[in-house]
Amino acid sequence: ERQKHIRNFSIVAHIDHGKSTLADRILELTDTVSKREMQDQLLDTMDLERERGITIKLNAVALKYHAKDGETYIFHLIDTPGHVDFSYEVSRSLAACEGAVLVVDAAQGVEAQTLANVYLALDNDLEVLPVINKIDLPSAEPEKVRQQIEDEIGIDASEAVLASAKAGIGIEEILEQIVHNVPAPTGDLTAPLKALIFDSVYDDYRGVVLSVRVFEGTVKAGDRIRLMNSGTEYEVTEVGVNSPKPLATDVLMVGDVGYITASIKDIQDTRVGDTVTDASNPTAEAMSGYRKMTPMVYSGLYPTDNAKFNDLREALEKLQLNDAALTFDPESSQALGFGFRCGFLGLLHMDVVQERLEREFNLDLITTAPSVTYNVDLSDGTKQEVENPAEMPDASNIKAINEPYVNAQIMVPNDYVGAVMELCQKKRGIFETMEYLDDIRVNVIYHIPLSEIIYDFFDKLKSSTRGYASLDYELEDYRPSDLVKIDILLNGDKVDALSFISHRDFAAQRGREITAKLKEIIPRQNFEIPIQAAIGAKIIARTNIRAYRKDVTARIHTGDPDRRAKLLDKQKRGKKRMKSVGVVDVPQEAFMAVLQTG
Ligand code: GDP
Ligand code: MG
Repeated sequence: ERQKHIRNFSIVAHIDHGKSTLADRILELTDTVSKREMQDQLLDTMDLERERGITIKLNAVALKYHAKDGETYIFHLIDTPGHVDFSYEVSRSLAACEGAVLVVDAAQGVEAQTLANVYLALDNDLEVLPVINKIDLPSAEPEKVRQQIEDEIGIDASEAVLASAKAGIGIEEILEQIVHNVPAPTGDLTAPLKALIFDSVYDDYRGVVLSVRVFEGTVKAGDRIRLMNSGTEYEVTEVGVNSPKPLATDVLMVGDVGYITASIKDIQDTRVGDTVTDASNPTAEAMSGYRKMTPMVYSGLYPTDNAKFNDLREALEKLQLNDAALTFDPESSQALGFGFRCGFLGLLHMDVVQERLEREFNLDLITTAPSVTYNVDLSDGTKQEVENPAEMPDASNIKAINEPYVNAQIMVPNDYVGAVMELCQKKRGIFETMEYLDDIRVNVIYHIPLSEIIYDFFDKLKSSTRGYASLDYELEDYRPSDLVKIDILLNGDKVDALSFISHRDFAAQRGREITAKLKEIIPRQNFEIPIQAAIGAKIIARTNIRAYRKDVTARIHTGDPDRRAKLLDKQKRGKKRMKSVGVVDVPQEAFMAVLQTG
């Protein structure tokens, strides 16, 4: 009976279309949060989310809705991120729901992640409820967007609610549609417990907190549970829901979305996608879980203080609980010491991981420039995967280097097609086709090396289209390219962490650009520091950082106000992000300098 009154749904959309703001209005209208406690994007609880104005983590809340039919419903709402780097959060959220509220900006219309998220929802057999948001904007064209949803997504949008999350228009209508159109959860209340872990987080006091969706049975404090894939058993200490603060409840029942704690200190035992069951009366089969994500880019992560290596390992293990797309393996570098090769879904993901590790675990880190995985055919007929440029075998042993290509779909107003094609061409793109979506918007499709995309492609794309282009890409295949490894020497010593792979045609230019950039970034010292770029034994570019003269030492970096502000900001956080490599102090920016070349 209670089950009939549960509705589980995610809010999905392209970034900035108003998911988190809609979640705010729903929390408000259902009195889940009092006016006094209300603030914008309330569910974006991480400092990082608030500072950047983006959602990084999925966030589940339980709320009660008194519907027009006189009944009270329990809603489990999951707010999700919109950026492509965090789409794993979306797909895991959707697996816990029966419905998805699809928010589409009435001025922007359907965009890359709108489509991607709808497909995820349809894959999970969810009921999709379109909502056309921001109708308060003067540039809103709700009827046009309604048509676009029907044409481009192929779902019925005749009943799409016209809403303004900001102005609080249409919110009740959305909640009524959820009651009437999202199916109540099915599943047997009396069957043995079967719950899917869709997220987790490490808490120093409570141990691992599991976010679960109960698909069968019930779970309460004192129950003995088993994590089916890992085979470990625990006694439940607490169950509850977020409302939005954690609120202990007597029991979680079939259909519920909530949390379980069980003093789990062994981090290795918990994985998202695992099934929780009753230890003494287990369910027959585990749920199918989640597909593993393949990292798109890799980079090295090193503590600036070598003694913190074990702290970094522990931090990565804990963070991985809350960021299931992160991978890491120990590696070492002559220049940087012991660290980890980490895999990320994209550059934003990489940036967020470094920030979270530093803030949440009080570390000071250096990341090396991101790189893709190369497949190398060796002269002896064997193959080698190279995730780290420094490990590229000697050129004399290489028959061919294959690099990953992506299929890139760039949606852009037709005025900017020329600019987009010029950029793609410059980034070694191979033109595939161009489709007109309507009389204004064009979808331009290219095959482009992933390594070119992860550099500054997106920034360049945005700036050459006045921000109008959107990019979506997926890994396609590996293709042979004429690539070379470029080494960087500081003070005559090769710094392995600065090595990078470049197309041979751009090698000389990149070599010059990076040496010039390093000269700007690396602080002067009281001796001259030669900087060289080399392919094998051949030097392709060189410059020098002059020794400083005694009288200017103190003020040398504080002249430029922009730089000064940055320095102050860093000091405030107590982070240096500076590593001594031999006798040279190398700041974080130096390891990323290669991204600004080409
Ligand atoms: P999300 O990335 O989808 O979660 O989007 P947010 O909820 O963070 O909203 C992105 C921006 O759009 C914020 O500046 C919001 O204030 C704004 N916004 C959201 N809903 C509306 C709306 O209905 N009307 C207007 N004018 N702005 C909105
Ligand atoms: Mg958001």
